[in-house]
Amino acid sequence: MDGGAEAVIDLAAVSANVAALREHVRGAAVMAVVKSDGYGHGMTEAARAAVAAGAQWLGVNRPSEALALREAGITAPVLCLLAAADAPHADAIRAGVDLSAGSVPLVTRIAAAAGQAGRQARLHLKVDTGMSRGGATLADWPALLAAALAAEAAGQVRITGIWSHLACADIPGHPATEAQLTAFGEALALADKAGARPEVRHLANTPATVTLPETWFDLVRTGGGVFGLATLPGGAPPWLRPAMTVRARLIQVKQVPAGTGVSYGHRYHTAAPATLGLVPLGYAEGVPRSASGAAAMWCRGRRWAISGTVCMNQFVVDFGAEPAAEGDEVVLFGPGDDGEPTAQEWADALGTISYDIVTRFAARLPRSYRTVASDQGLPPGLAALAGTPAG
Ligand SMILES: *Cc1c(COP(=O)(O)O)cnc(C)c1O
Repeated sequence: MDGGAEAVIDLAAVSANVAALREHVRGAAVMAVVKSDGYGHGMTEAARAAVAAGAQWLGVNRPSEALALREAGITAPVLCLLAAADAPHADAIRAGVDLSAGSVPLVTRIAAAAGQAGRQARLHLKVDTGMSRGGATLADWPALLAAALAAEAAGQVRITGIWSHLACADIPGHPATEAQLTAFGEALALADKAGARPEVRHLANTPATVTLPETWFDLVRTGGGVFGLATLPGGAPPWLRPAMTVRARLIQVKQVPAGTGVSYGHRYHTAAPATLGLVPLGYAEGVPRSASGAAAMWCRGRRWAISGTVCMNQFVVDFGAEPAAEGDEVVLFGPGDDGEPTAQEWADALGTISYDIVTRFAARLPRSYRTVASDQGLPPGLAALAGTPAG
């Protein structure tokens, strides 16, 4: 552990989650969405584990991420979910990366980039069925189809996918989901009538994959689920396992009297003579500053509150009469096996979603990777082999 803290990524959990998702969706294919550095778990490591476990597709935001996957030797189909006009489309097309377009000008740009690349672009047409984020509205859909079919007829693009995104799949029974499904059906029917023959039609994110089979179509796009998380009330189902553990060691321990003010602003005072422990993690590493007094961490076999203001690179814990010691392991969150909080519990305590917790730690903490189900109980040599050092 460098600086006394690290994120431990359980790649065996990533693989097991992908296998469980594949089993759950039966005939549909699984796209592992590994954008934002694999939701903070490491993009290429997560992508490799997902593909090894049977994910047929990968999803990222930008061509630069897709190109990094190709440079890492990953040959699975990759879709760029975000479409920016000035993205390096030609490079992506050359690398066989699938692009998305939700507007006529973007189809035109991608078709031109295909000319530069000397290769047909693989294109997913995005329809906005009610999220009101990317994609063509139903009113603009016929024009988008016409432009893409013309580019296909000219040999510049191949329409490989038709897709949309759900706004309320994590709110059970929300009427917008039904309305979006109806709109997606209309868009697919129009595309079929116009002559589009996509390989995959896709709509579902993790919450829809878990709870709404009618949204699965040919492919589900699961990000959170791959990492054992979901935005559903109560979090992910028990057949998904959280893959990230954030842990640290106490770097200092001291005794203070009752009534001692702790950390910036003295927003916390010890109620009795206390042992204070210093955890080398703060908001610059990803611990939300709003976690002061709200979120719990795990140490010495039980949970403890964060005492006082979270600083940039550290926070303090009041262990009361417990004899905490320098070097004691602290777990902020993990899979919950031993009673430690989960990212879902942190999210619930802070009024956010688990994705917002785990992505905070992206690239801010050293990571180590675990590739077997559990290395507990292995002799030290084998345990060292079981964990691959972080890149
Ligand atoms: C991020 C994203 C997903 C994955 O959502 P999860 O809830 O993490 O599964 C799917 N589709 C699109 C368009 C996304 O942006």
